[in-house]
Amino acid sequence: MSYDSIVITAHPDDAETQMGGTLAKLADRGQRILLVDLTAGEPSDFAAPGERARQAAEAAQILGVDRLTLQHQDRLLIDSQELRTEVAALIREHQPPTVYAIGEASVHPDHVAAAGIARAAVFLARLGRWDEVPGGERLAGQAPWAVDRLFFPHCKMETPWSDFAFAIDVSEVYERKRQALAVYTSIFQEQGDRLLALYEAEDQYFGRLLGVAHAEIFRSASPVLLADPSVILPGVHG
Ligand SMILES: [Zn+2]
Repeated sequence: MSYDSIVITAHPDDAETQMGGTLAKLADRGQRILLVDLTAGEPSDFAAPGERARQAAEAAQILGVDRLTLQHQDRLLIDSQELRTEVAALIREHQPPTVYAIGEASVHPDHVAAAGIARAAVFLARLGRWDEVPGGERLAGQAPWAVDRLFFPHCKMETPWSDFAFAIDVSEVYERKRQALAVYTSIFQEQGDRLLALYEAEDQYFGRLLGVAHAEIFRSASPVLLADPSVILPGVHG
């Protein structure tokens, strides 16, 4: 099945946290989106095994996206050749014009690994002649696929960026993002959770900085090229 966008992250909740509002907007516009979690995110702080998978399915439904959770071990994710080719094969299978992935991370080792895996997988997916590469059997039977765009949402465990390529106004769908995150009671406390407050504060900070209520920020692997300059919204200071 083909998708318009694939989002590659380490854990169920990463995509929602980093770009849940953008996902809701894209889904509302008819885009088909696949979230790829490299691990199941377990064990988690406040729930029994299997609970996070049920919550992840519910969050995806709220946002209007599909989800594929791979079963690599949470906490022990490693940027390996096997995982790079596994994700490259997924990119070839689903042929997304756009890939979103954790771009830079230093705090959570799984996020660090996911960033390397995703960036390498996007590159490897476009290469041919895998039948001549030891370990490349998985890719040898698929046609190469070059994504048009590789974007990096901000990982909110990291200090906010002072520069980014663009931001998406997610004010109108922010309640959906809150609902999608709220289902993860395996990792967030239902009342007064510090991380949820931090995540929303960042979206609110960048929103207010840019003149709206909430915004999600992105970096880009390549400079952003616009066919239509009229899609750019007014800036607070011009
Ligand atoms: Zn995570």
